[in-house]
Amino acid sequence: MADRPTILWFRRDLRLADHPALLEAAERGPVLGLFVLDERLWGPAGPNRRWFLAGCLDALHDAVDGTLVVRHGDPIDVVAAVAAEADAASVLVSADFGPYGHDRDLAVEARLAAEGVGFERIGSPYAVDPGRVLTGGGTPYKVFSPFYRAWTEHGWDPPAGPPVAVDWVRGVRSDPRPTAPAVDAALPAPGEGPAHDRLDAFIDERVTDYRDARNQPGIEGTSRLSPYLKWGCVHPRQILARLGDSRGEEVFRSEVAWREFYADVLHHRPDSARAAFVPTLASIEVDEGPDADARFAAWAEGRTGYPIVDAGMRQLLAEGWMHNRVRMIVASFLVKDLHLDWTRGARHFMRHLVDGDLASNQHGWQWVAGTGTDAAPYFRVFNPVAQGRKFDPDGTYVRRWVPELAGLDERRVHEPWTAGDTLRDDGPNGYPPPIVDHAEERREALARYEAARAAPASSR
Ligand code: FAD
Repeated sequence: MADRPTILWFRRDLRLADHPALLEAAERGPVLGLFVLDERLWGPAGPNRRWFLAGCLDALHDAVDGTLVVRHGDPIDVVAAVAAEADAASVLVSADFGPYGHDRDLAVEARLAAEGVGFERIGSPYAVDPGRVLTGGGTPYKVFSPFYRAWTEHGWDPPAGPPVAVDWVRGVRSDPRPTAPAVDAALPAPGEGPAHDRLDAFIDERVTDYRDARNQPGIEGTSRLSPYLKWGCVHPRQILARLGDSRGEEVFRSEVAWREFYADVLHHRPDSARAAFVPTLASIEVDEGPDADARFAAWAEGRTGYPIVDAGMRQLLAEGWMHNRVRMIVASFLVKDLHLDWTRGARHFMRHLVDGDLASNQHGWQWVAGTGTDAAPYFRVFNPVAQGRKFDPDGTYVRRWVPELAGLDERRVHEPWTAGDTLRDDGPNGYPPPIVDHAEERREALARYEAARAAPASSR
């Protein structure tokens, strides 16, 4: 055992169990647990993710007997400074495959190397590291189904086991842990313990019904593990190891794989965080200006007059989370009914989602917008009324989030304008009429789509 400590720099791996980098660090001797509060990530996170992260750090601090060292600042300076103060031999991390994290780590590595300190990446937030699964021709996959087959064939390690006894380094100066901001949303309990409670409950009670239940926003049919996966309170390996072969478990495994697929895509194409993955539709005409801003505000506040859209947008504000089916519906509405740029919607999601994740969010949006991998063909425009009727047939979801419609029966709840004047904006319930006519906007979207396809490649 070495006497010089190893720094375990926590990032999106805020747990002690199944943590390969921590196991390796503990094997080498004393371990200094470090978290760097980086303004470039904290700043844009929005109150919900800040709140959740602050709670995860509190939980981690307790789990390491109060020894977690938090420092505020630029990781390039901070990690090197802590390594020097503690006379650390090396810094161990779970690899970061996001565009910012990848470049930051290269810079930290170079700085540490100049000071004779090692930097090692052991494990990552994924069951299979991005970049590992390639086609026979050695190129990245652009379509999910073949990726999923290759990913399954590649396989993953079993969980790395429970935390061992760690000799945590004490007495190193820490800045205060971030204070959880006040939030309006009812957010899930942060930390590794609550993540496992949720996983246990899902596996015991709901996974076998997942295939059918996952598309119904009115019932608790999905795992709601996304914020915990985002911060690494639970690792996908730990989830996959719990899954058997029932149809529900198979479908759930493939959903976990979507997260891995999008991380892989973003790894190969970091530019796709901001720009169209497939450029064909990059030149599609989008609306801007005061009218477009007013429509965006109506969408963001959940007052478009389309119940399933408004329910979703209000759930996002109330819970910092939205059901996947409804994420697709509201995203389609923004892009194809309101003709606004998908990046505008993606930014709003990233501000409010407690699970906001660059790869899954930007590619979820691009899928809907028709510019992404596997994209839903642009001409497939979600009809918000038909989607509502199909996936929220008795209106439970809409009534929960749009109380103005609580009195409507299942025939009218997805088309309140058929219920007469009582629901008008200036009526007693104050629910607005539809801000656009879906059939008309669908035609408009298709016309813009044809124009973009016909545009010469040079104008894209
Ligand atoms: P479950 O159905 O229980 O699925 C289990 C896990 O599988 C999820 O936690 C998630 O990690 C993964 N998963 C499931 N579906 C998807 C998917 N379509 N894409 C990628 N991973 C998936 N997910 C995020 O984690 N962060 C985001 O910022 C995000 N933004 C999205 C934006 C849009 C426009 C769309 C259409 C989807 C987005 N998703 C995002 C994917 C998906 O909606 C959420 O992962 C899911 O709703 C989380 O709820 P859950 O944990 O109950 O999911």
